Amino acid sequence: MKIQHKLSLLFTALTATILSVFAGLIYYSADGIREIEFYKRLQREAITKANLFFTAKVESRTLQTIYKNNRETLNEVEVAVYDTDFKLLYHDAADIDFVKETKQMIGDVQKKKILQFYQDDWQVVALLMRFDGKQYIITATAYDQYGFQKLKHMRQTIWTVFIFSVLIIYLAGRFFSKRVLSPVAEIVSNVKSITASNLDLRLPRSNGKDELSALSNTFNEMLDRLEHSFESQKQFVSNISHELRTPLSAIIAELEISTNRERSIPEYKEVIQNALNDAQKLAKLSTSLLDFAKANYDPSKIAFRKIRLDEILLDAMHDVQKQNEHYQIDIRFQSGSENEQDILVYGNEYLLKVAFKNLLENGCKFSKTHRCSVSIETQKNHVLLQFSDEGIGISENDLPHIFEPFYRGDNKTFADGNGIGLSLTKKILQLHHGEIEVSSLVNKGTVYHILFPHM
Ligand code: ADP
Repeated sequence: MKIQHKLSLLFTALTATILSVFAGLIYYSADGIREIEFYKRLQREAITKANLFFTAKVESRTLQTIYKNNRETLNEVEVAVYDTDFKLLYHDAADIDFVKETKQMIGDVQKKKILQFYQDDWQVVALLMRFDGKQYIITATAYDQYGFQKLKHMRQTIWTVFIFSVLIIYLAGRFFSKRVLSPVAEIVSNVKSITASNLDLRLPRSNGKDELSALSNTFNEMLDRLEHSFESQKQFVSNISHELRTPLSAIIAELEISTNRERSIPEYKEVIQNALNDAQKLAKLSTSLLDFAKANYDPSKIAFRKIRLDEILLDAMHDVQKQNEHYQIDIRFQSGSENEQDILVYGNEYLLKVAFKNLLENGCKFSKTHRCSVSIETQKNHVLLQFSDEGIGISENDLPHIFEPFYRGDNKTFADGNGIGLSLTKKILQLHHGEIEVSSLVNKGTVYHILFPHM
């Protein structure tokens, strides 16, 4: 069900409930007042007739004739008079005799002085009166036709007003909720027109301070992020294609040239060596891409356990040196790093090793001496790792970009690479709640500062 309908129904139901409680209260209090007033009237009539009978000594027949005549036009009160021995002294209409008095009832009146009750719709009052020193029981009864008619009119008026009010409230509710929610309908139709091919479309900007303006502005912000991420993905894919094509084209070109004519064995060896180098580059690129995909997994799907940072560093160092025998790496422990607990992190061994290998490789490959060093220092809340080299450094222009995927600085000609290493490293460190910063001076060297929170 649409919110618009829900709102108007809710609004109507709420008002209908309040109206019915209000109308019910008025109706039942009016009924209560009618009942009390009518008992009072019955009491007055009973006393008047008893006075006529006992004090004015009006004859029974005269009183009965008056009753009969009045009954034709009015809802006349029917009165009966008993003595305390339950002997009937007078009755307005013994032939009608609506109230069937009993001995027990006469006894009750003697005890309580007055009784009030209903017999069907008729109200009855029975009271004890004293004349000339003797006690008599007078009963008076009548149907409050006038009062009930008034109540019936009231009921009809209440129902009519109720139905009209609920109808008007429902229509007004629908009208206003439609007006209030019309911007939502507009947002929905605008959003429907936005697809992957026109992610640059935006909802109309609004300076309003209401929730709907906030909604469309938030939606626009989300579209900004989506568009940016789409663009980055496209860029990423085109970068990958480019990185794959370059070594592949080189391999194809070399192999084609070598098949043009007969070559000497050393020439063939050179071609094979070049093709092997390019194939190794391709293998390295595909490994980096796989690692990149792993580092982008949902963190809950990556296996984390307690690991020692120094052990991973040593492993990374051995791997790097195995691939590049002339690289020299120096690992130093600062004072305070002896406590095993302080160099424990909760992490994924494989990914952390990939990150450290990238930093070690960069340090060595961008230095003429192919040397770099790592220091481990435990601080109050963190472990600080510093990867330093005295290499060619990074220019100021490149520094803000080196963590972007496929970005290679203007010193790229100095060493081979594909530009994925640092973006992958940063991603892995973020997964481990670590932070990385770089400081570098051209021709002086580079230092990467990494902070890991203690476990
Ligand atoms: P790659 O090393 O494959 O080129 P990276 O993502 O590891 O890619 O590094 C990105 C760029 O940052 C490098 O191309 C280089 O320009 C610069 N860079 C990174 N580390 C160093 C370093 N230690 N010394 C000098 N330049 C560096």
